[in-house]
This record gives sequence, C-alpha cells and structure tokens, in this order.
Amino acid sequence: MTLDARRITGQPDGSFGEVRHPTCCVIGCGPAGAMLGLMLAREGVDVLVLEKHADFLRDFRGDTLHPSTMEIMEELGLADGLLELKHTKTQKVTARLPGRTITVADLGRLKTRYPYVTFMPQWDFLDYVTGEAKSYPNFRLEMNAEAKELIRENGVIRGVRYETPEGPREARALLTVDADGRSSPFRHQAGLEMVRTSPPIDVLWFRLSRWEGDPEDTFGYAGDGRFMAVINRGDYWQIAYVIRKGEYQSVRDEGLETFRRSVGEAITEFADRTEELRDWDDVKLLTVQADRLRRWHRPGFLCIGDAAHAMSPVGGVGINLAIADAVAAANALVGPLKAGRVRTRDLMAVQLRRELPTRVIQALQSVAQRRVVASSLRQGGAPSLPRFVGALLSLRPVRGIPARIIAFGVWPEHVRTARARKESMK
Ligand SMILES: Cc1cc2nc3c(=O)[nH]c(=O)nc-3n(C[C@H](O)[C@H](O)[C@H](O)COP(=O)(O)OP(=O)(O)OC[C@H]3O[C@@H](n4cnc5c(N)ncnc54)[C@H](O)[C@@H]3O)c2cc1C
Repeated sequence: MTLDARRITGQPDGSFGEVRHPTCCVIGCGPAGAMLGLMLAREGVDVLVLEKHADFLRDFRGDTLHPSTMEIMEELGLADGLLELKHTKTQKVTARLPGRTITVADLGRLKTRYPYVTFMPQWDFLDYVTGEAKSYPNFRLEMNAEAKELIRENGVIRGVRYETPEGPREARALLTVDADGRSSPFRHQAGLEMVRTSPPIDVLWFRLSRWEGDPEDTFGYAGDGRFMAVINRGDYWQIAYVIRKGEYQSVRDEGLETFRRSVGEAITEFADRTEELRDWDDVKLLTVQADRLRRWHRPGFLCIGDAAHAMSPVGGVGINLAIADAVAAANALVGPLKAGRVRTRDLMAVQLRRELPTRVIQALQSVAQRRVVASSLRQGGAPSLPRFVGALLSLRPVRGIPARIIAFGVWPEHVRTARARKESMK
C-alpha cells in the first residue's frame, strides 16, 4: 500500500502524532463505509477507513439485505460467498390484522436471481466485506480509531484528526467521506444543514426463541393498539414492538410483566416464551429518527449513508440505501480520485443521483408511519389506509408495486466501476 506514514514531532500543543496520506479517508466502517472502501480499493485508489469500535459486534442493526443489495454483491462477484454465511430468507411479508391475514408483498414474483430479503447479522456482512477489501493492497482499515475533528485548510476539508490507543493521528486526504452514521458530528463541523422530521414512533427490539412448528413467514401484526414486526431469524425471532414516540419510560414503569403479557396477547404463539425476556436489558430502544442533509458535500468532503439521511426502520431499507450511496459514490468518484482532482460537481453528482430516491422512500415511510403504524397504536386502533389504496392494491398490475419498492427502492444502483465488474466475471 502506498500509504505514507511519517512521524511529526514538535507540534504547538506538544502532541506527537502520525500522519497518513490516503487518497480517500472514510470515517466509519458501517455498510456505507465498508462498501465504499472495498470498491475504491478494487479500483486502485488508496483508501483508509477509520472505525471507532474494536469490532463490528452490535446487535439489532440493519440486517436486511434486499434484492438491490444482492444484485450489487453479484456485480462485485461476492454474492455466492456472502450466501455461504449463515442467513435466513423471506419471500413473503404478511400482515396479521384483526380477523384476517393479508400479503403485503410477495418478492417471489420479481425478476431477479434474489427474489427474497436476506437476513444476516450486520457484523457478518461487515466482516465479509472488509475481509474481501483487505486482499487489496490499497485498502487499510484502522479499528479503534475514532475520528475527532476535520482538518480544514483554505476552506477545503483536507482530512481528519483521530484518536487511537497508540495516540492521536491525522489522515490527510484528497477526499474525506463521512459514513459514521446518524449521529455524525462532522456534518455540523462542515457546516451542513439538516432537515429533520418528527417520526411519531419509537421501536423496542428484542428476540424470542423459535420453536418447532412455528410459522415460517416474517410478518407484521397490527391490532388492539399494538404494532409489531416479527422476523424469522432461523433459531430465533427478532421482534420490533412499536411504541408512540417518547412512551418508553411509561412502558417501563408499567413493568416487564405487563410488556410480556402484551406481546403474548398479540402473538398468541409467543405467550409461553415471553419469560425469556429476563429484564429490560433484553429489550433495546431504537429512537426512530428520520432526517436528511440539504447539501451532502463541501469541498473535499462528502456524506453518505445514515450520515446524509437517517431512515426510519419501516421497510428495513436503511442498510440498503447506505450501500446504494456507497456504490453511487464509487461510480462517480473513482475517476476524479485517480486523476487527483475532485471537483464540487463530482460530489454534487453523488447527491443528485441519491437524493431523490432517498426522499421518495422517506416520504413513503412517513405515510406508512402515520397511516398504518401510528393509527394502529391508538386505543383499539387499526391501520387507516384510505379505501382506494386497498382497492388499488387488489388490482393485478398494482399488486407488485410494494414488493418492487421493498426489493429495489425507486432507483437501484449498479456497479459501474470498470475493474470491479471485470473481477466479477472471473
Ligand atoms: C436498532 C436498529 C435497528 C435497525 N434495523 C434495521 C433494519 O432492520 N433494516 C435496515 O435496513 N436498517 C436498519 N437499521 C438502520 C441501519 O442499521 C442503518 O441504516 C445502516 O447501518 C446505515 O449504515 P451506515 O454505514 O450509513 O452507518 P452505520 O451503520 O451507523 O455505521 C457507522 C459506523 O461508523 C462508526 N463510527 C461512528 N462514529 C465514528 C467516529 N467518530 N470515528 C470512526 N468511526 C465512527 C460506527 O461505529 C459505525 O460502525 C437499524 C438501525 C438501528 C440502530
């Protein structure tokens, strides 16, 4: 790898750091950062990815790889290897409503080699992608490396200062990509403005074991003032129990036994196993956030993934949009990075390509949150989709639309970088 690390001493504050000189420095090794790192390294771009944690082991993250992502993995020649890892799949998403069960989306009819949602722990996905990336000499991943402050010179962002167990370091780069998720402080440091929305819900995530004879489907439940998403993860169920925004403390105050009972009343098959929730540590709160940056870039700096747009968990699209951003960024920026000049219009091209699909999905999520989820949470409530929507969805040409949107979003990305595609042919 051509990364040049040189020691500098005698800084004004007396600190002693190391300076790295990648062409591109990526802050955060989540799905967006890992995929961008891999794609750039394959094209021969020197890339340094910084990850503040020592490993990828974090539970209840985006674990849902949609067909759009599987097609990208195939284009990179990595789909078969990925599918050798432990995973589960679902073709149909059903909804249990009071007195009836309906099919919300059937991916089985889609024209793709991957007509299903693949569920895989995000850490396995990240281990796989970074394992692949490490085979390229241009790729460098520093774990335990927490970015702290952008380096700015003459109005251009030139890299980032970061902390490691060995002391402070700097990465000086032609381009710094912010892929450190929905709490990124660097957007603010770069002076980028955020448009926030107010999702009316939060989510409690937990797991219960799967027993013989349990249903195979991944399904939703809506009724009696409750809304849950129940995901088949092979030997366990991953469950999202939706509450009204800000209600978490009152749910806790009512006690774990009341919570367990509520789960068992909604999904009667689970009534005899809710004891597996031993204390509130087994239940993780996701404060639902949905926002987007007005502008995703500054000279020398680009935001992608959740750092550019935090998504609601509705539809499980967050990881897929983050990966699509990474692909779009690699497609647009490999040439400029290799040429040693990244112009504002190159960065703008990434935003132009990804902003509209992101905003459309956020708008659809917002409707689903208000009309389906939040209305189900009202006392005795049920989903309140306008009648004409139900009628439309029963028409054959329209019936496939939810499945297509779940599978591909509104504007799927494809790998256009030359070397990456060539390698996938091998
Ligand atoms: C509880 C929960 C459940 C979810 N469920 C789903 C789901 O079912 N389906 C779905 O599609 N999406 C889901 N999501 C969302 C999904 O996880 C995200 O949309 C997706 O991971 C975004 O990818 P990203 O790479 O942009 O950011 P992230 O995944 O947030 O990755 C950012 C990375 O940056 C690192 N980092 C942060 N700060 C720094 C720093 N200063 N220096 C260095 N590294 C840093 C973090 O440790 C992390 O590894 C869920 C999210 C949560 C929190």
